Amino acid sequence: MLIVTGTIGIDTIHGPTGSAESVMGGSAAYFAAAASHLAPVRLVGVVGADWPEEHRKMLGSFPGIDLEGLEIRESGETFRWGGRYHENMNHRETLFTHLGVVEETPPAVPEAFADSDIVFLANSHPSVQVGMLDMLPERRLTVCDTMDLWINVANAELRELLGRVDGVVLNDSEAELLVEERNVVTAGKRILELGPTFAVVKKGEHGAVLVHRDGVAVIPAFPAEADVVIDPTGAGDSFAGGMMAYISKSGAHDFKTLQASLAWGTVMASFTIGAFGLDGIRSADEDAIASRLDQFREFGRIA
Ligand code: AMP
Repeated sequence: MLIVTGTIGIDTIHGPTGSAESVMGGSAAYFAAAASHLAPVRLVGVVGADWPEEHRKMLGSFPGIDLEGLEIRESGETFRWGGRYHENMNHRETLFTHLGVVEETPPAVPEAFADSDIVFLANSHPSVQVGMLDMLPERRLTVCDTMDLWINVANAELRELLGRVDGVVLNDSEAELLVEERNVVTAGKRILELGPTFAVVKKGEHGAVLVHRDGVAVIPAFPAEADVVIDPTGAGDSFAGGMMAYISKSGAHDFKTLQASLAWGTVMASFTIGAFGLDGIRSADEDAIASRLDQFREFGRIA
């Protein structure tokens, strides 16, 4: 069974097409929402007393997410993040990050979740991510995400984490910052030297590269036109959600399975970017996902 831990946040986003104030966000929220379309997912996270009721309803509207591991900590404040996109949606500026409950004691893994075997440590403080590992003794596959903030302020903890996971999903600029190598394949290989068996290096609208001890695979992004890219926030987490849900469903995690999982990640991310917050991913249903996957196969056909 798939489990995710990470942030559940209140986001404020500004982009070329408009802004969204205090919408539901967070790495674990996007991951779980995307994954839940393909496989059941358990969520472990913490929010504060200020967590809006409509966000609870929004998360509850995804039937595949088990919220037993969601703690509402009355003494604390919910993680808040603000970002701005400019014309080039591949780049964003972080306006603020208020960690709130994320820098306090991590949430506990409920007894009922202890047998989870496919683990995704969505973006959060690396020491919180490491802490989760000991609470999940049955894990068979552990994959983590990270970002520039943690590479800069918690590098030693992040390296410890990388020594204990099977895979890592991160974007090209983060990979470059981590191993000081711009070429994505070489950067991926350097990351494997830190411990993982595979690294997925995402390149925004240019797709992703899987660098694995057993080989290298590439996947293009879904070719979305400018007018349908409303808000890329959470695209990376949704990509990971689609990917990990496919792995969880298939029961295997060899190179070929990971390669196939990239298509599911790409398709789930393509829904997220279509609206602010979780609205894009919520609009996806089984038929829409299947038809987008067919379209994607056609786009990527190699003669
Ligand atoms: P992505 O666009 O996939 O990188 O994910 C964006 C989401 O990650 C937003 O909803 C934010 O609330 C959340 N986020 C932003 N900064 C951090 C951080 N430092 N740690 C954890 N989550 C974050």
